[in-house]
Amino acid sequence: MIQGVVFDLDNTLYDYEVSHEAAMEALSEYACTKFLITKEIFNDFFEKAKLDIKKQLGNVGASHNRMLYMQLFLEQIGEKPVIYALELYDIYWNTFLKNMKVFPYVYRLFDELRNRNISIFMLTDLTACIQHRKLKEIKLDEYINIIVSSEEAGAEKPAKIAFERLLSKVKYDPDELLMIGDSLVKDIDGAQNCGLNALHFRKEYQNDMDKRSLDFIDEINKLV
Ligand SMILES: [Mg+2]
Repeated sequence: MIQGVVFDLDNTLYDYEVSHEAAMEALSEYACTKFLITKEIFNDFFEKAKLDIKKQLGNVGASHNRMLYMQLFLEQIGEKPVIYALELYDIYWNTFLKNMKVFPYVYRLFDELRNRNISIFMLTDLTACIQHRKLKEIKLDEYINIIVSSEEAGAEKPAKIAFERLLSKVKYDPDELLMIGDSLVKDIDGAQNCGLNALHFRKEYQNDMDKRSLDFIDEINKLV
């Protein structure tokens, strides 16, 4: 019997690109005006800063920390990082949060899972604080029983350690859980390698993923 559903967050519950593009646009506009640089220079240096952080840190939650990108970007363009980094960080995330578009299936599925007494868990790459802010922003905070971020696990999906961290916090066996996520490698392979059931979310399922998920759960429960 499926007792809990484990959701990925980014690009599974909402459209990441819509938010990210709006946030980058606001950030670029601000930085170009403030530091008298062109959009091309902004893009070059920001991309360089991001790649540098990712190379330095590898597949851990902090590799997504925008605070580190802002700081390094400022250092690279010759500005004092501590004066501006927090401001840039806030411009990025405040714009991002304001532009979050939740997929239509999400509230219907969460309500139905709650009606059926199926627990809702989150297993998400990225730092804990911003993932909490996103979930509050889209008003899903009340539904979620347990959350594990890659910052907490120490590694990103599909690493076993991420799934094992979640399993250590929930009281169910892997085969009583269903992972739903948009990444075949991180979410689907990662979950199946640890014995969880898994269902792939694609953007074209955004209107009927609730039905697909409930049908999948019913199928598994029939076999038990
Ligand atoms: Mg995702």
